Amino acid sequence: MIRYYSTNRQAPPVSLGEALLTGQAPDRGLYMPETIPAFSRTDLASLSGKTYPEIAEAVLSRFLEDCLPPETLRRLCRDAYTYPVPLEHVTDRSYILRLDRGPTASFKDFAARMMAGIFGEFNPQTGRDRVILTATSGDTGSAVANAFFGIPGIRVMVLFPEKEVSDTQRRQMTTLGGNVTIVCVDGQFDDCQALVKQAFADPELGGIPLSSANSINIGRLLPQAVYYVYAYAHLAEKMEPVTFCVPSGNFGNMMGALLAGRMGVPIRRLAVATNANDEVPVYFRTEEYHKIVPSRVCISNAMNVGHPSNFARVIDLYGGWMDETGRIRKTPDLAAMRRDLWPATVSDDETRRTIQSAWHEHGLLLEPHGAVAWAALNRYIAETGESGLRISVETAHPAKFPEEIGMLLGFAPEIPPALSGLDGREEWMISMADDYGTFRNLLRERYGA
Ligand SMILES: *Cc1c(COP(=O)(O)O)cnc(C)c1O
Repeated sequence: MIRYYSTNRQAPPVSLGEALLTGQAPDRGLYMPETIPAFSRTDLASLSGKTYPEIAEAVLSRFLEDCLPPETLRRLCRDAYTYPVPLEHVTDRSYILRLDRGPTASFKDFAARMMAGIFGEFNPQTGRDRVILTATSGDTGSAVANAFFGIPGIRVMVLFPEKEVSDTQRRQMTTLGGNVTIVCVDGQFDDCQALVKQAFADPELGGIPLSSANSINIGRLLPQAVYYVYAYAHLAEKMEPVTFCVPSGNFGNMMGALLAGRMGVPIRRLAVATNANDEVPVYFRTEEYHKIVPSRVCISNAMNVGHPSNFARVIDLYGGWMDETGRIRKTPDLAAMRRDLWPATVSDDETRRTIQSAWHEHGLLLEPHGAVAWAALNRYIAETGESGLRISVETAHPAKFPEEIGMLLGFAPEIPPALSGLDGREEWMISMADDYGTFRNLLRERYGA
């Protein structure tokens, strides 16, 4: 059985089920698998041409085989991955992997849907509902609310900052109802996150079984390795190495790519694309890590992260140690990191120019997050002369950014079924001041403790 250790190494290793239900380790470190199961060349070759649910089952069974019966995992993969995962050819040997066709139109669906399924299986039947509590700046909240909607024994509460979430993003959450409660906070994303953290640390709420679904939960990471294996299995010829370019904020998506590499996908290089929140690219250059506080506001808003919560895992994977405050206590193997990862920072100006040039030169429709990656990939090709297979990741549907795209390209993207029909529907939400006392009362009143 694979066990999960804490990156701070002051807490005992646990099973996947426990890592999933607790989220963060008690010593405030992040859980990492003690061993990463590997695919042989033959295993990888046998995946070629398989469907997404089949590949998800093949990858996840390596982590879950001791804790879930195979037929249960098969059902969860089939139920979670009911939407297309397009691999679009653009030019030469460059492709776009579109992770934007899920029910809430961002790549967060891949992890949230699988995590919800696994949670449904692992949640101890205590007769009390488990409460998934999460703060969102947009995409996570809708993906999590949608994924856990209607799962028996589970209730969901999502806090969002009133002024930082678009109308569409809000409606994606507030039109669900059922076991989902949405709380609109008169504050910023950081305030929402602080309220949630305080609730987790509050002994007076000890009677409520709370779990988090934020990006540090290992349950969100494992499903994010799957689409790299899928893209490889569909495009690569004869085990050729591939370069992926990943638009990064909290580095959860990147960790998925790194896991896929450790599992045996022959990755030549991972181009790591950030917006102006460039603390990681600066770290590669200067070997000094400094958080950016407050984070810089960019049009690729889901990547406005000044201290990526999953970077501690990347450091750990390369033999270093970053503690929960963001201090690097042990230097990782920087030479190996530089061999594997190629960081690039893309400004809003360049992001906008890239949306225009991708459309005019290749008929390729991108939104800001995918455009940051595409810009970084093209810089990588220009600087390294890379001519092999390369795949850039698109993480949100362009229709989530109608104003920006309308301004740059002169038309509005076609609205996918996931985002249409939200306008007329009834919304349910609770409005709340940024006040912990009020929040605690709300939790007690709803979930009783
Ligand atoms: C969350 C998000 C990202 C950043 O992913 P991380 O795993 O946090 O690096 C990029 N694009 C979109 C659209 C997102 O929602």
